[in-house]
Formats: sequence, C-alpha cells, structure tokens
Amino acid sequence: AAVRRQSLLDKPARNGAEKLPAIQRKMHFEEIYQGLSSLHAVNESQRCIHCAQKARCNWTCPLHNAIPELLRLVAEGKIIEAAELSHQSSSLPEICGRVCPQERLCEGACTLKPHSGAVAIGNIERYITDTALAQGWWPKVSPDIATRKERVAVIGAGPAGLGCADILARRGIQVDVYDRYPEIGGLLTFGIPPFKLDKQLLAMRREIFNSMGIEFHLNCEIGRDIAFSELLSSYQAVFLGVGTYDLMRAGLEHEDSPGVVQALPLLTASARRVMNLADDAATPWIELAGKHVVVLGGGDTAMDCLRTAIRLGAASVTCAYRRDEASMPGSKKEVVNAREEGVEFLFNAQPQFIERNDNGAVTGIGLIRTLLGEPGSDGRRRPQPVVGSEFVLPADVLVMAFGFQPHAMPWLETHQVTFDKYGLIETGKAGRLSTQTQHPKIFAGGDAVHGADLVVTAMVAGRQAARDILVMLGDSSPIQCSHSQE
Ligand code: FAD
Ligand code: SF4
Repeated sequence: AAVRRQSLLDKPARNGAEKLPAIQRKMHFEEIYQGLSSLHAVNESQRCIHCAQKARCNWTCPLHNAIPELLRLVAEGKIIEAAELSHQSSSLPEICGRVCPQERLCEGACTLKPHSGAVAIGNIERYITDTALAQGWWPKVSPDIATRKERVAVIGAGPAGLGCADILARRGIQVDVYDRYPEIGGLLTFGIPPFKLDKQLLAMRREIFNSMGIEFHLNCEIGRDIAFSELLSSYQAVFLGVGTYDLMRAGLEHEDSPGVVQALPLLTASARRVMNLADDAATPWIELAGKHVVVLGGGDTAMDCLRTAIRLGAASVTCAYRRDEASMPGSKKEVVNAREEGVEFLFNAQPQFIERNDNGAVTGIGLIRTLLGEPGSDGRRRPQPVVGSEFVLPADVLVMAFGFQPHAMPWLETHQVTFDKYGLIETGKAGRLSTQTQHPKIFAGGDAVHGADLVVTAMVAGRQAARDILVMLGDSSPIQCSHSQE
C-alpha cells in the first residue's frame, strides 16, 4: 500500500488542454479549448496508473469506454488502434471528449484525482479521433453493409438517433434518419454553442455516417411532412430520438413581453448564423449588441447564453441565480470560463416581476434577495426570500434559461405509445424490451424518455435501442459495443 501511495504521489500534475485567453476568445465563436499535441497527449496518457481490473473511469463512463487501454495505446503512439477501439464503444467519441462533463463522469472517478489531478481523459478522447481522421483514417464500414432486407426509420438525428443508426448500419440494416433541422446533431448542432463544439465536426460525422450507408432526410418533420403511420408501414421498426423541446417558464407575469427571450431559440439563432444558414422564422435573430442582458438560471444552458451574449457584443451580461455559487447545478468549469469572459454573477437573487416601459417592453427584472433554508425533496437547500430586500436590476433583454420538458407529439397518440405524468415516452413496461414502447415496432430513447440530460446518456440509450431492435428482428448475436470491466 505504501509503494502504491508513493507511486500516486510521484505522478506529475495533470496537464489538460490549453484554452485561448479570454480577451481573444470572446471576440469569436471558435472553440476555446485547443487540441493536444502528440507529445502532450503521450505525456498525459502516461500518467495513468492502470488501476487493477476494475478501473473506475471505465464504469463511470456511461458508454464504458475502455479508458485505461485507450490511454495505453496513446502512450505507445498507436493512434489508429486507439481510434478503432474508441469507435467500438462510442458513436461520437471526439464529440463526447469535448462536451461530456468529465469531472462528474470518467475523470471524477480517476484514482489520481485527489493526488495529482485526474488524467485529462476527455482531451485525450478528442485527440485520438481528431488525429486519426487528420491522418486519413476513416471508421470501418460494416463489411455486410446493406446486405440485409430490414429497414429501420430513426426520427431525430441527435445523439440518441445517431447512436441507434450507427449500430444498426454496422449490422447491415438499411437505416433512414429523419430530422426537421437542416443538419444532423440535434442539440449538438442547434443548442450547444460553437465555442464548446465546432459545428464542422457534425458535417464530418454526416459524411462518415453516409459512407456507412445511413441515409439522412433533413428538413423533414415527421407528423408534418410525412405521416408517422407511413413510416410504421414502410419500416420493420421505428426509433424515436426526438428530444424534449418544451421550454420551461419562470411563471412570471408578462413573460411574453418584447425583450424577454428563451434560451434555446437564442442559441439556435446564433448557431445558424455561425453556420451561415439563413435565419429561421421559428427561431428569429435576436439583436444583443449594445444591450444590457440578464440571464435567469444557473445551469449549463444559462452559461451558454451568457457567453453567447458576450460574443454578440452585449454592453453588459449578468447571471441572476436564486441560490449561492456552490449550489449551481452545472459545470464549475463553465462558470469559470463565463467569469473570465466578463460575465457578472448575482447570487441569491430570485426573480419576482418583470419591469416594463409604457410600450410594454422590458426595462428590468425585479429580484428579491434569498437565504438558503432547509433541503427540499431533491436534497437541495431551498432559497428563502428575505422580506423587504426587493430591488430592480435594469435590463434590455431577459433570457429565460430554466430548462426543458417534453413537448406534445399528437402524431404518436393513436399508436399505442404511452407517456408518463411528465410527458416522457414510456418504454420497457410489462414484457417489453428496455427501449421498446407499448407498440412492438416502436422504440425510443434519449431525452424524450429519460428527460433532459446529457449527450453521452442519449447516445447510450440509442445504442441500446439498436440492440433491442436487432433482438426484435431475430438477431441476437453479440455486438461489441462497450467495454464494461464489471
Ligand atoms: P436532441 O439532441 O434534442 O435531438 C432530437 C432531434 O430530434 C432534433 O434534431 C430534432 O430536430 C429532432 N426531431 C424532433 N421531433 C422531430 C420530428 N417530429 N420530425 C423530425 N425530427 C424531429 N449535454 C452534454 O453532455 N454536454 C453539454 O455541454 C451540453 N450542453 C447543452 C447545452 C444546451 C443549450 C442544451 C439545450 C443541452 C445541452 N446538453 C449537453 C444536453 C444534450 O445536448 C442533450 O441531452 C442531448 O442532445 C439529447 O439527445 P437526444 O438525441 O435525445 O435529443
Ligand atoms: Fe469520459 Fe464522456 Fe468519454 Fe465516457 S464518453 S470517457 S464519460 S468523456
């Protein structure tokens, strides 16, 4: 034990990816974290101590990526082997390497974390695929591509739909993916801002998936452009990876006033301009240049809005959050980045009313100071308003960033698909496979089933649905798609 402890203490300190200086990065939408050089990646990979058989990073990664083995291959300079291994358990490894909250997942469980800092697993995962693709490597296309007669329709090209399509295509199933947006990725493309995830990566992934035989039908909304019943009769199975798009409201009066905007339409409109796509009537452009912007909410979506407002030239950008800094639900790293870029934070301030001028436009947000009280049913301490502490924070634009809940899908209602009390699609009930709905041909996964969560968990669900669809189609031969060491 003493030798092992010494070896932990002897490791050099974590050396993760460099980020661009704040002064520079807030001028544009390019990714702030830089890729690792080969030497940097090798040195960081060599810090892994290859703990016993049950590496905790492996089982806390929702995909069970073979992390110690990937680190060993990188340390030996075997990048192509590492890319192949990475693609066995993940459909979008370079994307997860960029957007997973690693501090809560793989890196949070790294044995080195309390000693010299967790190995920079996310940065290395990104490095592996970025480098292999730059060297001309291309993910292996299934040898039995389109050799089978079965056809499966996937609705939604987000991480759940892409994970499902990836596994099915590798099994030679013909997969058609339908999405109402003009590019694949779902919230990867039209939610997560470009400074966290370069949109070119999705265009590259579309090419990769196309080369595997997956066909994308973009700008095509099921229930509007094509009837769902048409898909049900044309395909052997249908996967629903439709996300959750109903925006949560603050419950304040005058939330529809000019100057009050919702987080996702703001982020989508901004992403479309960065991608040189025309503005869309459903998510019109919102001018923030020279405006005083206040974002209400304290999660990752709020951080994305704040940092987008900075880049769009707002005169001031403030985050108002009803709890204290320690209680913020999102990634601490993103709070640091926002602060570095010039965001002001106002903690323990709960919205009370929207202040407007004679024309009905927003001029400020009425807030009341809070103290944290006893924990509620979710275990988090409840903010208690301090009587008489109301004040108004001036604002030209108020951004509501309170999260998402399931949207209505009337086109599903006549097809035996059931929903829980929150509107989430129910799967895995009485005798069904874990991702199968009450209709035997309809499967579902991702945010639409488990609620708004993460890219990696949506992908896991999509990949599981593909396995369930294969079982339903009578193919139960094993699929190598995770590396669980449990
Ligand atoms: P989505 O990504 O929402 O994809 C659903 C797709 O279905 C969409 O493309 C939609 O157009 C399509 N669709 C829906 N209905 C239809 C229809 N009728 N016809 C055709 N197409 C349809 N997670 C992280 O892990 N890291 C992050 O940094 C992170 N940042 C985030 C930032 C923001 C602003 C938001 C909103 C979310 C963030 N998330 C993050 C969460 C993550 O993006 C989601 O959990 C994940 O994308 C869910 O995947 P999904 O495939 O279930 O749904
Ligand atoms: Fe870590 Fe996410 Fe990669 Fe898994 S997918 S190894 S959790 S960064």
